[in-house]
Amino acid sequence: MDTVSLPDLGNATRLVIKIGSALLVDQDGLREGWLQGLAQDVAGLRARGKGVVIVSSGSIALGRRVLGLGTGTLPLEQSQAAAAVGQIRLARAYEQVLGPHGVITAQVLVTLEDTADRRRYLNARATLETLMSLGTVPIVNENDTVATDEIRFGDNDRLAAQIAVTIGADQLVLLSDVDGLYTANPKTDSSARHLPIVEHITPEIEAMAGDPVSGLSKGGMKTKLLAAKTAVAAGCALAVADGFVNRPLSALQSGARSTWFLPEGDPQAARKRWIGAMKPRGELFVDAGAVMALQSGKSLLPAGITKIVGRFGRGEPVAIAGPDRAILGKGLVRYTAEEARQIAGHRSGEIEAILGYPGRAALIHRDDMVIG
Ligand code: GLU
Repeated sequence: MDTVSLPDLGNATRLVIKIGSALLVDQDGLREGWLQGLAQDVAGLRARGKGVVIVSSGSIALGRRVLGLGTGTLPLEQSQAAAAVGQIRLARAYEQVLGPHGVITAQVLVTLEDTADRRRYLNARATLETLMSLGTVPIVNENDTVATDEIRFGDNDRLAAQIAVTIGADQLVLLSDVDGLYTANPKTDSSARHLPIVEHITPEIEAMAGDPVSGLSKGGMKTKLLAAKTAVAAGCALAVADGFVNRPLSALQSGARSTWFLPEGDPQAARKRWIGAMKPRGELFVDAGAVMALQSGKSLLPAGITKIVGRFGRGEPVAIAGPDRAILGKGLVRYTAEEARQIAGHRSGEIEAILGYPGRAALIHRDDMVIG
């Protein structure tokens, strides 16, 4: 029988770590000792060259303590106010524990629109990309203070999955107060069995997740499963692990009880599938030189464009056609149709002079393109 091996944090290239509120904050406030242990683990991963993004809850839990808002469910305006007060403390706490390890932190607050709208999605992706290339560890949370009901994720499990997709992470770890998925609720059913690995999210698996729990954290197993669906479809493995232990990432690596959801393919392949399935909003015709460049895996520069057809906005899908009009592939374009028409045929160095602002060198970046 084939044995499926569990993913290992040591093999990850890009990791997203989601930290639940209950791990960070208790009735006495911020759990500093625990946070220091987490920072040691994160610094260790960074030192081994891995890109790390932390998605952290806790702003509302911290803020409500500071404001003395009690323990019941808060009305939306009060939780938004609590988030505003708590978020600065949360960001400072990460800076204080990671700084001594020489790790620079960055605060990134997003709303659902930042990942749903393609232009903003590409922007968020580019910023996170830059932050990671500069060696920082971005600390991401939902921008609870401005996110109204229609534009909120509402829970950080799904936000973390979306961030993992956005940056093409290969592993996502959800640290919370549960150590994985069980066949039934282990608190009420003594026959409940823990599942160390889920190869496919079947309806049976979904039925095991039950309903969200209440308390400090918004997510339950249900939101974790939704997150897992998003992550694995994008080629990212996802672990649900107990975060309460000291040095929780080291514990996970040494085999602490958890559930790993296995990915479908790898992140690049999943992203290309996603782009490949989009309906193009226009066509970019390119010259023979550009055809060769694209076929050897390069980005599409404005210099190679001979003609532009259609109306499209930034971040929208367009088809790429060669001199013989045959379609070569598809990609997400980084300029509007109007801008693209102005810079077509020009060198990337001329973009600023033509448009009046410095734009990106490529019209379509190779990571946003499928050829063939
Ligand atoms: N964004 C919320 C906070 O920082 C938490 C959402 C969640 O726990 O899933 O307090």
